[in-house]
Amino acid sequence: MPAQASDQALLDRALDSARAQFDQAQPQLEATVFGVDIAAYGKALALQAFTGGAWDGSVRVALTIRKEATGSCADFAAFVRMPPEDGVVPLVLCPQFFAPGADRLRALTILHEMVHAVAGRDECQAMAFAARIEMLASGHFTPVDAYWRANQCAQSRYALP
Ligand SMILES: [Zn+2]
Repeated sequence: MPAQASDQALLDRALDSARAQFDQAQPQLEATVFGVDIAAYGKALALQAFTGGAWDGSVRVALTIRKEATGSCADFAAFVRMPPEDGVVPLVLCPQFFAPGADRLRALTILHEMVHAVAGRDECQAMAFAARIEMLASGHFTPVDAYWRANQCAQSRYALP
């Protein structure tokens, strides 16, 4: 189906962009950034099995494209189902993820959700980490002020660039 093919193409492009940003940032990253193990994160982003995240044993991310905006897809562009089961942590891409335009937002979503896949549920951690990657890769980061406030991240141990 053409729609399916184009969704896959958009996802591949977002993954490529997220990986490129991470590769650019990586020389300036310490082994752990905001509590995220960088080696594990790099493997997760490459869809390879990783250890050293929040989970026991070896885990890999499985991407799933969902066609219906129901359940968690009614509220989110993407989400990670955690904890992993049988060594697999699903990253579900919802219809909103594939909305026209928003290429940069798609890449940011991948950077953000991969933090959840590796390190768990903390929204402030995921936002701070993704913003750090964007900043190191391009010199600026996508504003997330409303979401930062909504999650009361000013009181967290994390910070935006
Ligand atoms: Zn999140």
